[in-house]
Amino acid sequence: MTWIDPISRALHRQAGQHGPIMLMYHAVTPGRETPGWPWAVSMQQFCSQLDFLTAEGYDTPTMSELVAAPVEKWTGRTVSITFDDGYIDNLAACEELKKRGMRATWFVVSGSVGQMPQWPEDGRPAGRLLNADELRDMQANGMEIGSHTVSHARLTELNDSQLMRELSGSKTTLEELLGNPVTSFAFPYGIWDARCVEAVKQAGYTAACTTRTGWALRDHSPFHLRRLTVFNTDTPGSLARKLYFGSHDVRWRDIAQYAFRRLRRV
Ligand SMILES: [Zn+2]
Repeated sequence: MTWIDPISRALHRQAGQHGPIMLMYHAVTPGRETPGWPWAVSMQQFCSQLDFLTAEGYDTPTMSELVAAPVEKWTGRTVSITFDDGYIDNLAACEELKKRGMRATWFVVSGSVGQMPQWPEDGRPAGRLLNADELRDMQANGMEIGSHTVSHARLTELNDSQLMRELSGSKTTLEELLGNPVTSFAFPYGIWDARCVEAVKQAGYTAACTTRTGWALRDHSPFHLRRLTVFNTDTPGSLARKLYFGSHDVRWRDIAQYAFRRLRRV
């Protein structure tokens, strides 16, 4: 069993009462060493997080399943696992999900499939992105592939026709590559506004997720799904607290302040 400190474990006992959580991963680096890039986790961290979710009875629907079902369906513990960008090291992560009967959704950049990332370097691990065969194989194993634009663009900076190209172009390319509809979308850099959301709908997507934190369905809109980021510093304990609080603010200082406020209310 994954070791978790008693306070996090006690808090987590009440987790799942506010509906589903979406988790956002990026790279999963091999081995045990904590990666330097904040948005990567080590394979050892990743597996211990999956083991925790399994032991705690979490259901792991894909994003399209999450939004297709009526909200009432998600009364139990639900985590929709997502990966942005589609790094090659995610293949091994996908194997670990499969081993545990879990599923996830990948948001890939249609203009960089199978290539080195074409967008600016920011400290991410080296290596190419998942290629067409790999994506098809993942899909055949129950994983969902969604769009993350053509070029990993900052959508709010584009004019209307550029915006539509990023949204419709990536959808068409991925649908041809995968042989089925692509209905889920994730905003690059978590950057979006009302015009972008409208364009996502017009392009034919049925759901979009942001990097705003909180419970996934809190905004009662499939185009404003909230996600929690899993960082390189996260442990099963901090993940347990994130799942309980639906927030990134789960350092011990935050927890102490929360407990103090609760006590004062009594
Ligand atoms: Zn991205």
